[in-house]
Amino acid sequence: MDKKAKIITAAVAGAAAASLPVRAALHRETKVDVPPMPDEHVDLARFRKNLSDAIKIKTIAGKDPESTDYEVFFEFHRFLRERYPLMHEKLELTVLNRAALMFRWPGTARDKDPIALLAHQDVVPINEGTEDDWTHPPFAGIDDGEFIWGRGALDMKNHLIAVMESVEALLAEGFQPERDVYILLGNNEEVMCANEDNGAVVMCNYLAEKGVHLDCIVDEGGAILPVDVKGVIHKDLAGIGVAEKGYADIEVAVHAKGGHSSQAPNHTALGKLANVIRDIENHQFKAKISPMLWSMFDSIGRNVSFPARMVTCNLKLLKPALTKGLSYIPSAASMMRTTTGVTMASGSPQANVLPQRASIIVNFRIYPGQTVNDVLKHLKKVIRYKDVEINLLPGWKNPSKISPTDSRAFRKLGVICRSMNPNTIVAPYLVMGGTDACHYQDVCENIYRYSPFCVSTSLLLTCHGTNERIPVASMEAGVAFFKRYIRELSKAEEA
Ligand SMILES: [Zn+2]
Repeated sequence: MDKKAKIITAAVAGAAAASLPVRAALHRETKVDVPPMPDEHVDLARFRKNLSDAIKIKTIAGKDPESTDYEVFFEFHRFLRERYPLMHEKLELTVLNRAALMFRWPGTARDKDPIALLAHQDVVPINEGTEDDWTHPPFAGIDDGEFIWGRGALDMKNHLIAVMESVEALLAEGFQPERDVYILLGNNEEVMCANEDNGAVVMCNYLAEKGVHLDCIVDEGGAILPVDVKGVIHKDLAGIGVAEKGYADIEVAVHAKGGHSSQAPNHTALGKLANVIRDIENHQFKAKISPMLWSMFDSIGRNVSFPARMVTCNLKLLKPALTKGLSYIPSAASMMRTTTGVTMASGSPQANVLPQRASIIVNFRIYPGQTVNDVLKHLKKVIRYKDVEINLLPGWKNPSKISPTDSRAFRKLGVICRSMNPNTIVAPYLVMGGTDACHYQDVCENIYRYSPFCVSTSLLLTCHGTNERIPVASMEAGVAFFKRYIRELSKAEEA
């Protein structure tokens, strides 16, 4: 580099460094105008009692109608009828798939697309052998003043009962929606069952047959997470799920001669499979920061304290390093790529028998934009040992479409989240698990997954696990949120 170039480079670098504090100062979130919304009255004692009693009804769905105890679902329906009399009087109720409940609250603007609130009635069973690990029995619905304990407290009877409470309260207050409001309560979200037995699929088909197109859907998925790093950020992050990952279990098997283990070859079928596993694990899908994830980083970056913004205002420059760094952290990597998990293996049925067939099962969570077929192609490409059998197992699904972030529904969701708590960052987010919402893609484009309860990450991990419980302190806001949501989203306005 000649002298002149050096001077220019130094000048540019100097100017950039000098402007850094200015850029950091300007790197703030654009102010969103949040119109004041009237306070919503919530009867918290009633919500607590109803959630606690709802948990006592063991609504566990079987994989098929034969293995499902419908009596307990009917008991749950009787419970809802008793606790929500106005809703049962004023809304049309259609029971589909034996136990799925479809409520329609007729609006005054029949020419406008209806809105829908989703929830599932079923809960997962307790893992065998872990019953005694619970502080309070999982189906006792214990309310100790700080938490309500039990299966479904977070996934998702809390959400379902909050929706019911909000509708009942709005009816009692004489509220009349403009758009039709559907409350769609699936009966077997937690099990992988055939489409014709799936409550959400059956309800969606019913709507499609009637020619109903939904303006928007809100279902479980995202939540409010406290983001707290001393001196850097103190905010609540409302993650609104705009897409969910796909799912595939794929079996990979190799064959061998078998025989007596006293005359074992250097490599048995399982030994050959070890190389297959290595090939698969060494060829992970490429991680990338999608626009969805980028917008979350950007929102957080604009909300950190001034010194930290000196870094976050340069986030674009750091993108390659950030992508690489995050791809080593499994929880972060899962938001950036299709994940590969070799979860099961089997060989011969006995210790002294050589396997004739050895197999593994690899679990993939597929990133939006890729498909199950892409995963199969990838496997065929990366496994060097060609004498393998690759079988896609039942229960797979492609990832959902990505819902827009410039829709009326997404904007309003953001406004309502901030109206509940001005210290909230609203960001689109990718849901790792599955929800009923993805079955409605044929009748709705604006599908959002969001549960309006502020819950720490460690508590969220109790979903499907031991000591599932909801903080009582988070409950009132849940009902207030849904009341506002129904008031705002059921307006006939388009913009
Ligand atoms: Zn759920």
